[in-house]
Amino acid sequence: MTQADTINAPTAGKTEHVDVLIVGAGISGIGSAYHLQDQAPGKSFVILEKYETFGGTWHMHTYPGVRSDSDLYTFGYRFKPWTSAPLASAEEIKKYMAEVISENNIDKHIRYRHEITAASWSSRDKRWTVTVTNLAKGESFQMTANFLWMCQGYYKHSQGYTPEWPGMDQYKGQIVHPQTWPKDLDYKGKKVLVIGSGATAATLVPAMAADCEHITVLQRSPTYFIPGRNVNDLADTLRQLEIDEEWIHEIVRRKVLFDGQAVTDMAFQYPDMVKDALLDGIKPLLPEGYDIGKHFTPKYRPWQQRIAFVPEGDLFAGITSGKVSMATDEIETFTPTGVRTKDGTVIDADIVVTATGFHLSVLGDIPFELDGKPLNWADTVTYRGMMFTGVPNLAWVFGYFRASWTLRVDIMGDFITRLFKHMDAKGVHSVTPQLRPEDADMPVGAWMDPDNFNPNYLMRSQHLMPKSGDKQEWKHDQNYTLEKNVLPTVDLEDGCLVYE
Ligand SMILES: Cc1cc2nc3c(=O)[nH]c(=O)nc-3n(C[C@H](O)[C@H](O)[C@H](O)COP(=O)(O)OP(=O)(O)OC[C@H]3O[C@@H](n4cnc5c(N)ncnc54)[C@H](O)[C@@H]3O)c2cc1C
Repeated sequence: MTQADTINAPTAGKTEHVDVLIVGAGISGIGSAYHLQDQAPGKSFVILEKYETFGGTWHMHTYPGVRSDSDLYTFGYRFKPWTSAPLASAEEIKKYMAEVISENNIDKHIRYRHEITAASWSSRDKRWTVTVTNLAKGESFQMTANFLWMCQGYYKHSQGYTPEWPGMDQYKGQIVHPQTWPKDLDYKGKKVLVIGSGATAATLVPAMAADCEHITVLQRSPTYFIPGRNVNDLADTLRQLEIDEEWIHEIVRRKVLFDGQAVTDMAFQYPDMVKDALLDGIKPLLPEGYDIGKHFTPKYRPWQQRIAFVPEGDLFAGITSGKVSMATDEIETFTPTGVRTKDGTVIDADIVVTATGFHLSVLGDIPFELDGKPLNWADTVTYRGMMFTGVPNLAWVFGYFRASWTLRVDIMGDFITRLFKHMDAKGVHSVTPQLRPEDADMPVGAWMDPDNFNPNYLMRSQHLMPKSGDKQEWKHDQNYTLEKNVLPTVDLEDGCLVYE
């Protein structure tokens, strides 16, 4: 018996091979599977998912009120109409995904509780060998695949990011990160301190406020918020007119995208005007004379970070009612009963929620090898924010930050399946991005230009990410409006992709 046979005991002594291995059954993995079987129906594939169910982000986040902050007309797939209110709870998103899975017979391709723990490319065999742990059985085995379609997300799932503050060890209360919310956390009648003021805080503070004695939101610096109603008037009107849901989905998507792009363009061209408009939008929702300058006026330009949506202005209602208060300062130290900030303010709390973000995870932190040599992603340059120089037969679905992530799942699905057809027509087995002679002098820098988009989790870990160039071919420029037209027309023989 060979070593491979031993390792492969769970698959009856045979190394299973598939054309395409999709890693992850989150919104990216399920959408990619749909496009693969729809547009390249002959390809065999499996989806390996380490959790016991699908959903990814929407399965693992269980903090109070967990919901999208994008509208589901664009966060939903283009091929499956969204028929409810634009913002959706995690449960509603999972229900939508469950329908996509069952309507398209994707279930039979998913293997839950299977985690990829290593991946190795062989140039001789032109295929990947992945090590997989069956978490239910505690056994490891190997599989091979021609192509890895990486849908494992962009942040470490096991643990959120909590900075180290002085005195944390003397704090007597409970410290909780939203990513690992304890099932039995009892915050009824308690004083809660939420550290951070991004989209997560904007979601969980209103959801908890009614039950707590008081919530203080402590932020180092403010965030932009857009208050609004969780309705889409155009969708509702079209529904009244008994228009087909497929049409409503498409029309509303276009309108949301059109409006979103207009706001983004305005934010780049006239940042001060957009900033003023955002601040004017929240003023009427706050008490008379409230210090908006201190608590709600960010230092960055609108769209340098995601703008948090506040449905029905619920966060501001909490402030007006006195249940929620804002503190804008840095933590000097934790104390046994809470924290003291640098300006000397003491905030007592029974529970501290650290809504302080993620750890970025590059390709799931899976150790990759190319012909036996460890692969350092920071040594690669991205091809259009999806493939990487020197790395054959692999794509990472990395969505949009400013627009809905999922928009890119759809257009990458089109692109990758077009690439498969092109390779089949050429009779080749591998595709590897490679800088062309004319790219030799191209400046190569960070994955994301901090002047364009600079959330803390990205800035902390940019050095681990693949690099970007300054040409369209060699960056992920986070521009859906442009990419949706460019990707379908990309010349697959322009020299950026090398086939063997
Ligand atoms: C709370 C929260 C709210 C968000 N809201 C929005 C929003 O409103 N709009 C928006 O556009 N974006 C939002 N985002 C960003 C969001 O993460 C993405 O939009 C999207 O859900 C990512 O989907 P994904 O499938 O790429 O990754 P994930 O949802 O992270 O799923 C990846 C899956 O891969 C699996 N996996 C990972 N590694 C392995 C491995 N080695 N082996 C096997 N399986 C593996 C994981 O278990 C997981 O199920 C939000 C993020 C968070 C955390």
